[in-house]
Amino acid sequence: MSEWLECLACRTRFDTTESRHECDCGGLLNVARDRIEGSPAVFDARLSSRAALDRSGVWRFREAVMNIPLERIVTHPEGSTRLYERLGVFFKHEGENPTGSFKDRGMTVAMTQAVRVGSRAVACASTGNTSASLAAYASQAGLRAVVFIPAGKVAAGKLAQTLAYGATCLEVRGDFDAAMALVREAASALGIYLVNSINPFRLEGQKTIVWELLQDLEWNPPDWIVLPAGNLGNTSAFGKALREAHEAGWIARVPRLAAIQAAGANPFYRSFREAFASRHKVSAETIASAIRIGDPVSHERAVRAIQYTNGIVEQVTDEELMSAKREIDAAGIGCEPASATTWAGVKKLRAAGVIRDGETIACVLTGSILKDPDAILASAAGRRIEIDATLAAVERALG
Ligand SMILES: *Cc1c(COP(=O)(O)O)cnc(C)c1O
Ligand SMILES: [Zn+2]
Repeated sequence: MSEWLECLACRTRFDTTESRHECDCGGLLNVARDRIEGSPAVFDARLSSRAALDRSGVWRFREAVMNIPLERIVTHPEGSTRLYERLGVFFKHEGENPTGSFKDRGMTVAMTQAVRVGSRAVACASTGNTSASLAAYASQAGLRAVVFIPAGKVAAGKLAQTLAYGATCLEVRGDFDAAMALVREAASALGIYLVNSINPFRLEGQKTIVWELLQDLEWNPPDWIVLPAGNLGNTSAFGKALREAHEAGWIARVPRLAAIQAAGANPFYRSFREAFASRHKVSAETIASAIRIGDPVSHERAVRAIQYTNGIVEQVTDEELMSAKREIDAAGIGCEPASATTWAGVKKLRAAGVIRDGETIACVLTGSILKDPDAILASAAGRRIEIDATLAAVERALG
């Protein structure tokens, strides 16, 4: 098997042992292979193994993720998340990853690559979940972790995690897009390995969300896979995962992707509405801080994913996504606000007749309910009742 990096813009190829995250022309890189190895039978057989790499929902699919000696893999392990059937749809709960978001699936591969190319320090810009994941994996690999976050804009659970795992937090005065531009500049200038989702190895790991979902469904694809869309790394990874699974014959047909944005952070939605004729930048604002992104770096890759899957892009308001979050929380599984765009999007697309009755739907819940406690406390105040320590007070409170 051979594996290389290829520029999406100018097609230049690079060796995977080179330390680079973008092409000299500025184009995005893609991990390419001459053919996709592995099969459902091989992947299914590993489900009964106790070995860490087989238990990892990323490295269980290793033939199609990264070609590297097994002892050099940096794994927690991650993935192997649950699939819930609630509210008439499937929820693949990526909040059940080791640091509470799907970011671990990409980080295990990017960190393995960082070690392979001899990095001493790794960096990312983040709305919080990437930084928590980077910090955890960097400490495991013994690398210095530096994260660039928008000052005052990161949910409490994510910031606390990042600090606890030992990263240095540079709190940038500006929004996520400013932090992103700065980390690109700083990584090149200071020789720090960049593990943002520009990094193509992140996407190789994130492909396994889709593959594990297909495996959970015994390789019967759903009609729709619905996911939140921010920096568009996941949308891109899902498109690549489906293309590879279909071309390798693991699935007989390709599900449609529905990428859901918050209405206050909707550059991809705007572009979709004009058949991707132009790329948009917006000044982003939404309660769903994980997708508060106005200038997504993986735009081109994500356009291909939507086109390949005959997918669609929808937007939902903060009211719609928070109401959807309350339903997911009340179903006993819960998620962070960004993840709830999926269920809000399903309701909207059903009402519009885009998703039809009887179609099977899998929503990807990207982050844990514990990531953003403030968003919950702000909306559940009515059920907190302070009382005196008497039975009479309990009776009064319960009516
Ligand atoms: C990162 C993240 C997203 C957005 O994913 P992109 O790949 O940036 O589009 C959505 N939800 C959560 C919880 C995230 O952490
Ligand atoms: Zn190029």
